[in-house]
Amino acid sequence: MSPNAYRLAPKVELHLHLEGAIPLDTLWSIVQRHGGDPGVPDRDALVAKLAYRDFAHFIEAWTWMTGFLRTPEDFRVAGAAVAASLLEQGIVYAEASISPSDYAAHGMSVEEIAVAVRTGIDSVPGARISLIVDLVRDPGPERAHATLDSVLGIADDAGIVGVTIGGSEQDHPPGPFAGVYRRARDAGLHLSAHAGEAAGPSSVWSAIRDLGVERIGHGVRSVEDPQLLAYLVEHQIPLEVCPTSNIRTGVVSDLESHPVRQLIAAGARVTISTDDPTFFHCNLTDELRLVSELTGVSGHDLTTAAIAASWLDTRQQADLRRIVDDYWQAADDLPGS
Ligand SMILES: [Zn+2]
Repeated sequence: MSPNAYRLAPKVELHLHLEGAIPLDTLWSIVQRHGGDPGVPDRDALVAKLAYRDFAHFIEAWTWMTGFLRTPEDFRVAGAAVAASLLEQGIVYAEASISPSDYAAHGMSVEEIAVAVRTGIDSVPGARISLIVDLVRDPGPERAHATLDSVLGIADDAGIVGVTIGGSEQDHPPGPFAGVYRRARDAGLHLSAHAGEAAGPSSVWSAIRDLGVERIGHGVRSVEDPQLLAYLVEHQIPLEVCPTSNIRTGVVSDLESHPVRQLIAAGARVTISTDDPTFFHCNLTDELRLVSELTGVSGHDLTTAAIAASWLDTRQQADLRRIVDDYWQAADDLPGS
C-alpha cells in the first residue's frame, strides 16, 4: 500500500487532546497575542520549548502552553484551527478532549471554554468532532466533581460525549475518582481514563474496576501483567494506543519494542491515535502506516476498529464504515497497491 493511500484515507481518531493539537502557527499567534515569552523569541524556539525529556518534562511543557490559553477567543481560534487541520489530514471523525480545569487560574469557566471550542469547530464546514472533557487528576476529585457539574449543564449544546482523566498518572491513581465517574455514567456520559501509560498495570485494573471505563487511554503497560492482558482480550475493552507519544514521553524506547505488536498478537482491541501531535511531532497518517507495517494489520482494519470503539451511535458508525470501506476497496483495486 502506497504511503499516499494513508494520506488520502478517511481516518478516525479517538485519543486527541485538542490543546495538544493546535497547529504551530496558531499556537505561535496565540502566544504573541498575550505578550509572548522572552525565552521563546521565534517559531524555532517554540518548537524547542515543546520538546522534552520524559513524561514529567512533557507535563511541564504542557503547563507552559496552557498559560497562554487565557480567553474564550483563544479557545474559539484553537477549536477552528484544530478542526481545519484534522479535515486537511482526512480525519473524518474525532473524539477530542479538552482539559478545562487547567485554565481556572485565568478565570474562565468550563462552560465558556467548551462553548468557545464548539463554536470554533462548528465554524469549519465538514468538521466532525465530538468533545470529551478531561477531569484532570492533579487538582483532585473535588475539582473533578465541580468540572463535571459544569459539563452536565452544557454537554448537549457543546457536543460533549464523555469524560477521561489525564495528568500525572504516576502520582494520582484512579481510585479516588470513582465517585465522579459514577455520576458521569449515571448522567449518560461515556467513560475513558488515561491508564497504563506513566503507571503500570495496577492503574489499568483500577480504571476498569473502580471507574468502570469503556475504553482505556493508552493501556500499553498492560502487557506487564499477563492476567490483565487476558482480561482486556476477553472483555474486548478498546485501547487508545498512541505509539509515537509513548516513545516521546519515554514510556517505551522505540517503535520496535512498542507493546502494540504484543497487544495485537494477543487479540486485544487496539485503536491508533496521536495524543498531542503538536508536542510529539506526529500525525495520524504516519501512525497508521507505521503500525500497519509493524503488525500486519491493514490501515482499513485499524480505522474500522476505531469506528467500532467510537461513541457514535450504531447508524452513525455504519455511515462512517461505508465511507471507509468504499475508500479502501477502491485503493485495493488500484494497480500496484
Ligand atoms: Zn492523552
